[in-house]
Amino acid sequence: MPLPPYKIKVVEPVLVWGRETRLEQARRAGFNLFQIPARFVAVDLLTDSGTSAMSDRQWAGMMRGDEAYAGSDNYYQLEQAVRQIFGFRHVIPTHQGRAAEHLLFSVMVGRDDVIPSNHHFDTTRANIEVAGGEAVDLAVEQTDDLGSQHPFKGNIDLARAERLVRELGRDRVPLAMITLTDNTGGGQPVSLENLTAYHRLLDEHGIPLFIDACRFAENAYFVREREGAHAGRSILDITADTFSLAEGCTMSAKKDGLANIGGFLALREEALARKIKERLVLYEGFETYGGLAGRDLEAVAIGLREVVDEHYLAHRIEQVAYLGERLRENGIPVLVPFGGHAIYLDAAAFLPHVPRELYPGQALAVALYLESGIRSVEIGGVMFGKKDPETGELLLPRHELVRLAIPRRVYMTEHLDFVAESLARLHERREEIGGFEFEYQADVLRHFTARFRPARSAPKPSKISIED
Ligand SMILES: *Cc1c(COP(=O)(O)O)cnc(C)c1O
Repeated sequence: MPLPPYKIKVVEPVLVWGRETRLEQARRAGFNLFQIPARFVAVDLLTDSGTSAMSDRQWAGMMRGDEAYAGSDNYYQLEQAVRQIFGFRHVIPTHQGRAAEHLLFSVMVGRDDVIPSNHHFDTTRANIEVAGGEAVDLAVEQTDDLGSQHPFKGNIDLARAERLVRELGRDRVPLAMITLTDNTGGGQPVSLENLTAYHRLLDEHGIPLFIDACRFAENAYFVREREGAHAGRSILDITADTFSLAEGCTMSAKKDGLANIGGFLALREEALARKIKERLVLYEGFETYGGLAGRDLEAVAIGLREVVDEHYLAHRIEQVAYLGERLRENGIPVLVPFGGHAIYLDAAAFLPHVPRELYPGQALAVALYLESGIRSVEIGGVMFGKKDPETGELLLPRHELVRLAIPRRVYMTEHLDFVAESLARLHERREEIGGFEFEYQADVLRHFTARFRPARSAPKPSKISIED
């Protein structure tokens, strides 16, 4: 692994609790890891969102917070950083990524519109649907094959995209999206070749492309490492080429902004920017702060310049891959190639004796917490499963995954070794791990608030089907 291009100046204590305490906390939380207080977590791999360690420059920048209501100096710093890195003239700050999505779609998407992407992130999909549109996922088919070594599993399927825009045209497709990297598909990158062809196709039909830019720098690094034509180019050059294809982007600065809060919408066209700013002031705040304090704008402006550093990115991507390799060495089933921000465990393969209707992903995530205090997140039947209200049939997603998301600049190799060793121990005694059943579930987004109990007996044969 490359030398980390940073060292520790401030530390945050991690409290080490015993197994008894973890069990008590898990019971109290209804075996739902979202409900466990963070102080009872030793290594928190729930998400990479908003969990980055800020640099000394970012903290110093926060002291330069200019809290003027209008025209804060920090806004101009952010505007300049976005203009230089992404090439968009109009920069609209928002409190986080989903607010940028809401603003864009509420202006551009109407009833019965269809918006293609490789995979829409949950909040992106929800904001399109709230605006009356339909969000369609068109990632290449290799994305669904956890073992496929395709280097760009985030690519969009151009043939399906072409069919869609030919059939519906600009009238029904007012804009198209693509997510860099493809979070839902496993943090997988999109090649510049694929993006260029997608843009060409859209351009022929007069459809503007917008990029969900949350992990733009991680994507640029993969392009440099894996796409021969761009080997050795600078991250900034690749980023400039990437965004030159788009009319704008939505961004959560909680990811590749290296900040704990923040986001923005960046646009090429003035008329659209003006329309969106009218809504901004209604939902977020005045156009030079958009729901953020001046100090937060400064942290994002500095974070954007730090995240494109080649040494930072090399260490970041290699650190994630290091954990993946250590797991693979121990025979633990993982999604490959390793993603930019997380390692995904194939829980159905890890726990083949736990039937899908007893949620092997949930079982593995809970077992890992009880074993070592490591918090991960289930991405499987609990998060995406649905019960048909008429037939009572349980519809489950194709894959049952557990995501280990790596916060940026937070954990050391020792933490990753600890995670790998804990999982190796669990893998050795995997037969002892049993499934879970729901005790309570809400109608929407049930994974956040659900309560579970360990399944006592073998499940009754129930009607289930698995999406293809
Ligand atoms: C996190 C995320 C968002 C939403 O950003 P928030 O800051 O959480 O609102 C949108 N798209 C992708 C790909 C994300 O990962």
